[in-house]
Amino acid sequence: MASAGSSKSNTIVKCCCCHDLCWNFDKDIVRCSCCQRIYHKSCYYPTLLNVDTSFICIMCEDIKKYSKNVQNINISFGSMKKKIITRILMELYCKSENIELVKECPNPQMHPMYYKKISQPMSLGNIRRFLEQNRYDKVKYVIWDLSKIFGNVMIYLSPSDPYYKIANELNDYLFKMVEKWLPNLEL
Ligand SMILES: [Zn+2]
Ligand SMILES: [Zn+2]
Repeated sequence: MASAGSSKSNTIVKCCCCHDLCWNFDKDIVRCSCCQRIYHKSCYYPTLLNVDTSFICIMCEDIKKYSKNVQNINISFGSMKKKIITRILMELYCKSENIELVKECPNPQMHPMYYKKISQPMSLGNIRRFLEQNRYDKVKYVIWDLSKIFGNVMIYLSPSDPYYKIANELNDYLFKMVEKWLPNLEL
């Protein structure tokens, strides 16, 4: 933490996606010029390469305007829908600090039971990689996979586990966003 007398430039900040602490002068971070959120360039989706100080994050964009322009929600995967999906993904990363179980699938050596209980492991990391590889041809498949992440956590853990509650809340939040930004989506 910045001590008395140290320059203001040495401040500990937190990445909104991975929720790890980092220095504000770290070359791997970027700050949104609008909301001032901090992101690791590699945590942001899509990964940021060349950004300048005028960078404005997807969390600051008016998603309703893309939502209004989406035609035929159940067909193909155009740029408007990609914007909406990007926002949904980033909202889920940013929503809770306790996203360890949803960020990446657990290590199979450390958590063998997870793989015994869960037939289709899924994580936010998997989904962003699938999106980068253009493996989704329909928006609904992304939403299914996102919901599968939280469903898996709820199968794996008992309802008394605090992470169960978090997964449940994230799932509710997902469908609130779908209702708001993809109202005509048939799931
Ligand atoms: Zn990060
Ligand atoms: Zn922002």
